[in-house]
Amino acid sequence: MKTDIKTIALSLALVVFTAFAELGFSQQAPAQFPQGKWIDLTHDFSSDTVYWPTGEGFKLETVFDGTTDKGYYYAANKYTAEEHGGTHIDAPRHFAEGKQTLDEIPLESLTGSAVVIDVSKKAASDPDYQIGIEDFTEWESVNGRIPGDSIVLLNTGYAKYWPDRVKYMGTDKKGQEAVRELHFPGLDPAAAKWLTENRDISAIGLDTPSIDYGQSRLFESHRILFSENIPAFENVANLDRLPPKGAYIVALPMKIKGGSGGPLRIVALVPETN
Ligand SMILES: [Zn+2]
Repeated sequence: MKTDIKTIALSLALVVFTAFAELGFSQQAPAQFPQGKWIDLTHDFSSDTVYWPTGEGFKLETVFDGTTDKGYYYAANKYTAEEHGGTHIDAPRHFAEGKQTLDEIPLESLTGSAVVIDVSKKAASDPDYQIGIEDFTEWESVNGRIPGDSIVLLNTGYAKYWPDRVKYMGTDKKGQEAVRELHFPGLDPAAAKWLTENRDISAIGLDTPSIDYGQSRLFESHRILFSENIPAFENVANLDRLPPKGAYIVALPMKIKGGSGGPLRIVALVPETN
C-alpha cells in the first residue's frame, strides 16, 4: 500500500512537472518574446505632423527647460493635440454609437499577427485608389486564407510622402474647404463589408490619413468596421518593411477614458525566420 501511494505521488509530480514544462515554466527557460527585429510603425509627433485639414495640429510648449534655483537641470513640456492626427487609432465609437471607446478596446484587438496587403503599385498612379475585395483574394491566393484574429495592414506606399501634405493627402490647405481637395487611397466599403462578413479580423490599419479614401463623403468603411468593434490605425509608417505575413503587432494608444481615438505607438516584431 505504501509503495502504491509513493508511486502515485511520483506519477502526479511527473504529470505536474511535465505540464509546467510544456507551459514554459521550466527552470532554465523564462517566458520571452520570439527573437526578431522590432520595427517602429509610428511617425513622430511635432509641428510637422499631418492632421485633418480641419484639425489644429500638434503643439508642444516648453513649461521649463534649464537650471532651477536649486541648481539641478529640469525639463517639462505641455502638449495639445486632437485625437485624430498623426499615427493614431480610431476607436469604434468614432463612427458607431454605443461601440467601444478608446479605453474599452481590449488588448486582444491591439496585439496580434499581421497580414500586410501591398497595393502600392496600383495606388502609385491613382491617389483615389480604393483597396478592393480582389486585393484580398489575390493576397490569399499566394499566402493562404487570412487567419482568424489577424491585424490587417494596408500598404498603399503613401507613407513615403510624409509629411509633404500635397503629395500625401492632396492638399496643404486648412479648413472645411480643403476637405474637398483630399486625395489619398483607402479601403473600398465593399471590401470592408467582405472582411467583416467573411473573415475574422481584430483590427485594420493603413498608411494614409483615413481608412476611407480622401474623396469619401459618407465614411462607409469606418461605419462598417466600427459597427463590428474593429478599430482602425491611420497614418501608419514603414509598412513596406513588413513581410506579407508573420509580423507581430503591438499597437498601444494613449488610454483616454471615453476617447473616440488617440495618439498611437505601433510597432512590429518581425521574427528571424522571415
Ligand atoms: Zn481617425
